[in-house]
Amino acid sequence: MTVKNIEKAKAERDITMRRYSTYRKTPTFVSTVRRGFTLLELLIVIAIIAIIAGMLLPALNRVREKANGIDCVSNQKQIQQALSSYVDDNQEYFPAYSNISAAGDGFTSTWIDTIYKGNYLKGGAVFFCKSHRTRKATDFDAKYISDPLSVYPSATFVNVSYGYNSFYLGCSLMLPDATQSNWITPAKRPQIRKPSETISLVDTVNLSKPHQGSCFCVPCIDESFLNGGFAGQPDPRHSGGCNIAWSDGHVSQVSNIDRKNPFLSDPFRKGNTDGDANNYWDRK
Ligand SMILES: [Zn+2]
Repeated sequence: MTVKNIEKAKAERDITMRRYSTYRKTPTFVSTVRRGFTLLELLIVIAIIAIIAGMLLPALNRVREKANGIDCVSNQKQIQQALSSYVDDNQEYFPAYSNISAAGDGFTSTWIDTIYKGNYLKGGAVFFCKSHRTRKATDFDAKYISDPLSVYPSATFVNVSYGYNSFYLGCSLMLPDATQSNWITPAKRPQIRKPSETISLVDTVNLSKPHQGSCFCVPCIDESFLNGGFAGQPDPRHSGGCNIAWSDGHVSQVSNIDRKNPFLSDPFRKGNTDGDANNYWDRK
């Protein structure tokens, strides 16, 4: 190898080593300091979460309300089926909305007790609507759900979510010829003029004691009867609508009900003229 070649080789080696050295020594930035979020970044993240929650919550509430409504329809179907089976077995009579003592000095049981005693329903969960939010759950609920008759009879007067059309099915109090002696006579199925349009059960609330729940009887007549403090009135708690079981057995939701006075809205006002020849729900 000539001197010239040797020098050339050395020069190339030096260049290669410098390159290698440069490559190896190229600094790479690795922070050894852990940096947290700044306050601004945290606020931005919180704001984004709040916006997303704000968009999702109404949708979630709508889904939950829809599920509650479906659950309520199922409850009413089961109760109405129990009522229909009772009617089948009892010479077409609907159950009396209440029974009174032989001495006539007080209620001894309700239509609810009657259908449980006849084994037409099992368990009490079907009497609670999940959208009945003014009602406060109590110890009573657990006993009632497992065995309604364990709290028989007084507890079934209150704290349930559905009312029975007591005046037109459960008794004849408001019929033109009603007298004190026959006012607990229930209707017979063939006496109902329009079964598919006559309320049997409805979502109710007791305005006197909304925390306690609605009463068992719903006078679909007018608000004056409610002053007694134990009766429930229709409660449009499903997005402004009420679920209703009709006396022919079907269940549907009725919307656009006057919240302040549901008795001004159909179908409740149809039974609002007691004794009138046009009273929609008078018996045949
Ligand atoms: Zn309901």
